Amino acid sequence: MKKVLITGAAGFLGSHLCDKFIQMDYKVIAMDNLITGDLKNIEHLFKLKNFTFYEHDVTTFVHIPGKLDYILHFASPASPIDYLKIPIQTLKVGSLGTHNLLGLAKEKKATILIASTSEVYGDPLVHPQNEDYLGNVNTIGPRGVYDEAKRFQESLTMAYHTYHKLETRIARIFNTYGPRMRLNDGRVVPAFIGQSLRGEDLTVFGDGLQTRSFCYVDDLIDGICKLLFSDYVNPVNIGNPNEITILDFAKEIIRLTNTDQKIIYKPLPVDDPMQRQPDITRAKTILGWEPMTTRQEGLLKTLAYFKSLSNQDLYKSEHRSFES
Ligand code: NAD
Ligand code: UDP
Repeated sequence: MKKVLITGAAGFLGSHLCDKFIQMDYKVIAMDNLITGDLKNIEHLFKLKNFTFYEHDVTTFVHIPGKLDYILHFASPASPIDYLKIPIQTLKVGSLGTHNLLGLAKEKKATILIASTSEVYGDPLVHPQNEDYLGNVNTIGPRGVYDEAKRFQESLTMAYHTYHKLETRIARIFNTYGPRMRLNDGRVVPAFIGQSLRGEDLTVFGDGLQTRSFCYVDDLIDGICKLLFSDYVNPVNIGNPNEITILDFAKEIIRLTNTDQKIIYKPLPVDDPMQRQPDITRAKTILGWEPMTTRQEGLLKTLAYFKSLSNQDLYKSEHRSFES
């Protein structure tokens, strides 16, 4: 039986990866320090004999007994609100955490995939973004802690590949959404859906003409698996090229939730990228992957999930303690 370590396992994407690898009959070792994740996302797996959970901060030494075939390194705060609140931990998990996991992969002769991001392109001057674009990142701006941690993560991963001949994969993930996103993590999909369900106005930042391209989580997980099992070491964009302005997206959520909420405008956060759309030619050509879920289908599934939450969850404000 193959064995996989998934870091960030109690988070949005990590928990879906745990489900996927359990379905594929792997022994899954899940690791998380719960700084932005929630055990509720994986508690249904706790009874399974092929599933083990370690509460552990990957910025400290990571020990896993026995063999390991694959590592999926998904631990990192991922929403702008989170990494603004915990900037040092964000830098540490992308750098020190990645170093520990690359060291573990080398020791175990495991293949490692790291979760990078479209944020390596910053506020892009090239559109759509292909993997050869080198990016436009403000190193000392509020998003720099995330963007630069991820850029360093890619460099370190590539160095382990060239110097130690480690089997490495780099996924550049574009905005992904779906069930198990935290309702209050500030990302636009849970923000707009939560506001609609609570009967609040939708908060569009800036004039709303900035664009994003949203990928449904099942498509993303499929792309990650195809990349992991390929032999391709350069970065690959994984995302859905269907681009929309945030203003149109707000109107779409109002239509979909059948509410008559108003749109209100709030200031645009510093360094908020004005446009984002993945060029997925590489993923199509090398992995034979492209997203299959329309935004309408994906949003309906996501809406059903948020509707299934208790009123207590829906109205809960974020009061996590983020001390390190
Ligand atoms: P998330 O916040 O839901 O999950 C991240 C998980 O990592 C959380 O459970 C958190 O507790 C854990 N974690 C953070 N620091 C840790 C540490 N030091 N040790 C152990 N665990 C730690 O976020 P997500 O959306 O699931 O993102 C997962 C990964 O995918 C991140 O690396 C993120 O940068 C990347 N990514 C996500 C998106 C997206 O749209 N969701 C886009 C680009 C990249
Ligand atoms: N956004 C918005 N209202 C909100 C939350 C986000 O208009 O309540 C905007 C945000 O300014 C950005 C886009 O939606 O332009 C996507 O934001 P998100 O935090 O989801 O991701 P990222 O900026 O990292 O792509």
